[in-house]
Amino acid sequence: MNALGREIAAIIEQDGPITLERYMSLCLQHPKHGYYMTRDPFGAAGDFITAPEISQMFGEMLGVWIGEAWTAAGAPAGARLVELGPGRGALMSDVLRVGRVAPGFLDAISVDLVETSPILRELQAQTLEPSPAPINWRADFGEIPRAPLFILANEFFDALPARHFVRVAHGPPFRPWHSSDASIAHPEGSGFFPDAMGGWRERLVGLAAGGQFAFGLASYVETGLPLAPPPGSIIEINAVAQRLMSEIARRIVADGGALLLVDYGYTQTTVGESLQAVARHAYVDPLAAPGEADLTTHVDFAALARAVRAKGAKVQGPVTQGSFLAQLGIERRAETLRRNATAQQRDAIDSALERLVGIGDARDHMGELFKAMAVMHPDMPDMPGFES
Ligand code: SAH
Repeated sequence: MNALGREIAAIIEQDGPITLERYMSLCLQHPKHGYYMTRDPFGAAGDFITAPEISQMFGEMLGVWIGEAWTAAGAPAGARLVELGPGRGALMSDVLRVGRVAPGFLDAISVDLVETSPILRELQAQTLEPSPAPINWRADFGEIPRAPLFILANEFFDALPARHFVRVAHGPPFRPWHSSDASIAHPEGSGFFPDAMGGWRERLVGLAAGGQFAFGLASYVETGLPLAPPPGSIIEINAVAQRLMSEIARRIVADGGALLLVDYGYTQTTVGESLQAVARHAYVDPLAAPGEADLTTHVDFAALARAVRAKGAKVQGPVTQGSFLAQLGIERRAETLRRNATAQQRDAIDSALERLVGIGDARDHMGELFKAMAVMHPDMPDMPGFES
């Protein structure tokens, strides 16, 4: 077991099994051993590759969109261009380059990068040097001062920690954890599991007899989940993502602005779970080596849209990434780039375009699994990209 694994095992031994939310948080964000804290995970030599790393065309399309959103909002001075989880800074670099297209945009903004990883902050600073606008780094969205906010988030919400709940028929199902353990792990539970009735139990990470991590179920029954699917069904709830989205919508309604969110996920809230661990471009066991693989879940766009509407902000989409980029004119952009390119560069442009908008095996076609969704101040007009 690695150092983070020993630390998590000690927490479980002391407090009892932990929620998936806590496990994911520790794996990704532990200050010393967390996945994002210890490495640059991107690129062919890393663990995964993201759209802005595939081609500059992706960031250019998002940059044109956010510049137009700022113009449509009345070109406010003192606006802030925000990116959540900027990775190596490739997306922001492309956005700032095409930011010139919206007259006055670059003079009106300062940049806020929400990033917890010191390694990635350093890489972002290198990529964005020299920057046409001042840059501030923030550990949390809540640190950004009040102003009209123009926010980009690509593959950020999938990295926020989720919770799982399993529908059980009756009796202690599967391999429940010892009740005294689980009650400590879950202090605000809603009462003990009534033996004869069905209900939801949270899926927890505990220690199996051999000392390795294993999933099990809390001995508490969870109330307040209105669905009643067949026993054995599992649901995924990302309360952290919903709270953040709610806070973003509140700020946009109060001070103006827009958010453009791109991520892999599903349009309707459904039964099922999507936890995945990826290391060196392959799927691995999420419990095997904590902190050494990227842990994510798919984004529940419907749940995020509900959080936005509850705050009075406007939602457009989600539409597929392929449709969004096509409507913004990525094919024309590829054609322009092709004109001044060598034969080899032309092949690279074509294969990048196919990866970004194409439909097929989701591992090298992002066009359909990835979705785009916008959040806007209610007075803003409809923005391009979201016709279905
Ligand atoms: N948007 C980039 C990187 C996506 S990876 C791209 O498309 O290439 C996720 C990014 O979010 C990383 O930069 C990671 O360090 C950051 N991150 C993950 N969880 C975070 C959190 N809770 N708070 C702030 N940043 C976070």
